[in-house]
Amino acid sequence: MDEKIYRDDDIGDIVLRRNARSRRVSVRVHPVRGVTVTVPYLVPYSAGIRFLLSKKKWVLSVMARQKAAFGTAAPVSPEQTETLRCEAREYLPRRLAALASRYGFEYNRLAIKDNRSNWGSCSSKNNINLNLRLMLVPEHLRDYVMLHELCHLRYHDHGPAFHALLERLCADWFAGSSVLSGTSRTSGSVNPSFPVSKALEKELRTYHPA
Ligand SMILES: [Zn+2]
Repeated sequence: MDEKIYRDDDIGDIVLRRNARSRRVSVRVHPVRGVTVTVPYLVPYSAGIRFLLSKKKWVLSVMARQKAAFGTAAPVSPEQTETLRCEAREYLPRRLAALASRYGFEYNRLAIKDNRSNWGSCSSKNNINLNLRLMLVPEHLRDYVMLHELCHLRYHDHGPAFHALLERLCADWFAGSSVLSGTSRTSGSVNPSFPVSKALEKELRTYHPA
């Protein structure tokens, strides 16, 4: 795989990459690794750049969202917070209910909060709180936070039993997904040298709050 850097005044450095296995030009915006354009084997880099520039507005909006999720230079504005709250109210209750029913958990009530101290919490009364800023992180990390809080319904601490349960659920839920291929090589089963839940926790810490 060869690589080249292209610089755009608004986006910054863009990594151009050629991949024999890819079938089309693709653009990826990662909060840590930045913007990457992958082109198939026989496609020139210039075509990749043209494609990227045609998607510039989208790339810049994703970058802005990711920056906001980090809570660094650009704080989320009140308007953005309201948009996120609407998205979160639409998405999180359904997703949490689906995960809970799949793994046989019952919680009392879900509250969606806006705070900077945690992604989620679970009270002794089995009420779950989720941070509306979860809408700014990738889907698999959202799922990870929800699985984590659901496990607290059984164990209200971070002891070995809690971690064993969380790891089992993560290994099952992410079985066959690309999340596992980057962590555990034995798809679906638990790799004790690199637990899936630990890898996801680590990835989540690259965002804010964590
Ligand atoms: Zn916890």
